[in-house]
Amino acid sequence: MVLHPFVDIHTHNTESSSKVISVVNCYPNPLVNSYTYRYISVGLHPWHIFPEKWNQDFELLTRYTEQKNCVSLGECGLDRLKGPHIKLQIEVFVKQIQLAIKCSKPIIIHCVKAYDLLIPLINEYHKDQIFIIHGFNSKYQIAEQLLKYSCFFSFGRALIDPRNKKLHHLFKTLPLSQVFLETDQSEIPISHLYAFASECRNETTEQLKKSLYKNFYSVFSPNKL
Ligand SMILES: [Zn+2]
Repeated sequence: MVLHPFVDIHTHNTESSSKVISVVNCYPNPLVNSYTYRYISVGLHPWHIFPEKWNQDFELLTRYTEQKNCVSLGECGLDRLKGPHIKLQIEVFVKQIQLAIKCSKPIIIHCVKAYDLLIPLINEYHKDQIFIIHGFNSKYQIAEQLLKYSCFFSFGRALIDPRNKKLHHLFKTLPLSQVFLETDQSEIPISHLYAFASECRNETTEQLKKSLYKNFYSVFSPNKL
């Protein structure tokens, strides 16, 4: 029997393990040696957009996307609770979608209270671009709209909250071909998320690992590196 690795598509944790494929989130910062990670995603997070320097950061970001280990743009997106004015957030986000299209990489999205703005953008660009909503913890109605555009849903710590029954139900109903798991900023091991998720979907952990590994290959195309 082939044992598949765990896949953690969005983490800020830089420890590596041979049993886990991690996509480490990086912010364009020349002081950080992002070459040490096997796979990275790079983006301008809405919390880190500064009106006086985002143009410069965007240029740096463009250079990061040329790195061999860069498999995705993001996390980037829209946040109504934190960050600069939403108009500026949209401008910077759209530039990142266009960059992702140009370099044929998926994009990992951070979206807080802004699905009404995100969905029209996905509608505009989905034919050329793969969108992954990270840390998904929203209503069924939102998921339903996103499913129309073949978006991907990545679940993190909110999924294992025993009180989050609605999210468990939603997770069970989504096609496995559009699902990912992630640790993000939490210390929870990815194996723990897989154990919970496989029980929730009534599958073995090995089956889930196989499916999410397949998703990883089709979305992030690491073989093209
Ligand atoms: Zn994150």
